[in-house]
Amino acid sequence: MRAYKYKLRPSAKVIAIFEAWLSICCELYNAAFQERRDAYRIAGKSVGFVEQCAELPEMKAERPDAARVHSQVLQNVLKRVARAFDDFFRRVKKGQKPGYPRFRSHLRYDSFTFPQAKSTFRLEGNRLHLSKIGKVKVHLSRPIEGKIKTCTIKREADGWYAIFAVEEPAAKPLPAPGESVGIDLGIENFATLSTGEVIENPQHLRAAERRLKTAHRKVSRRKRAGQRRKKAVRLLAMQHLKVKRQRADFHHKTARRLVNEFRVIVVEDLRIKGMIKNHHLAKSIGDAGWNQFIMILDSKAGETGRELIKVNPAFTSQDCSACGERVRKTLTMREHRCVACGLVMHRDHNAAANIERRGHRLQGWERMRSREN
Ligand SMILES: [Zn+2]
Repeated sequence: MRAYKYKLRPSAKVIAIFEAWLSICCELYNAAFQERRDAYRIAGKSVGFVEQCAELPEMKAERPDAARVHSQVLQNVLKRVARAFDDFFRRVKKGQKPGYPRFRSHLRYDSFTFPQAKSTFRLEGNRLHLSKIGKVKVHLSRPIEGKIKTCTIKREADGWYAIFAVEEPAAKPLPAPGESVGIDLGIENFATLSTGEVIENPQHLRAAERRLKTAHRKVSRRKRAGQRRKKAVRLLAMQHLKVKRQRADFHHKTARRLVNEFRVIVVEDLRIKGMIKNHHLAKSIGDAGWNQFIMILDSKAGETGRELIKVNPAFTSQDCSACGERVRKTLTMREHRCVACGLVMHRDHNAAANIERRGHRLQGWERMRSREN
């Protein structure tokens, strides 16, 4: 499945319907959520997706405003609740400690989905026909390839979007280059590879981030509740969105390139890295969007039959990648100089080499374990 996202140009009338549907969907989400939670907490039994769907006609009879929302859109809301609980229990089973699913606020409930093409929506040229809503103009910035499965209408800071989930023919594994790479994600540079290559943060992204900072300052300078502050807040939201999109685009391109070039990709486990008690570092992990990058890399590796390995990040920048000697250095020391074997290389390059090696070691273990079983 691949997602195609397009800006919509809805009329004021359609926007009013979008808003009304979102509000009803959010209400339904929270009601369905509460029902499941109470059934589980009070009676110790679970209420499933099918049972909740069966209650929809009754709700629609009592609530004419809800009856105006397409029933498949409402069913999709119940599916989202089901997914939230399924994910939760799956992770509990795995021995993880996930946060309990939560109620959703109206502000953060920002999308609804038509789950079936043809019967509930169809795209004709640049017109999107939505059942029970009507026609909406779409800005088709790129053509869709493949079979459209679902359509999600989403509210963002700068307007409304349609996101189409499209089924693509199964991806063939790329011709394997038969090599592995270790990646050190950085602050100074976006990434350093064990091959020695440095991937910089793109210029335009850095410029957008600077503009974001200016917009932030502007908001804090304006008087509370003033018109000019409102305008500055809107500007800030737009800048945020822009940076978010540019960064996602950069992450996609970089991840695509890496899976094209390498068969095995080794990165540091950010969950462990985040636990290292260093606020400066924790902030950097969030700011640089490393988590998002790893997620994208993970999914692209899955699509193309590549292997992504996550290794323990402890001492990757301290240890010598040639002889293993632990060479202590502070954050400002940008070079690795081994006192034992004399190796000199850039700190991040040395770290990337260690990361790659740990991946190899982990792979060896996995193989041994699978032989034992
Ligand atoms: Zn050494």
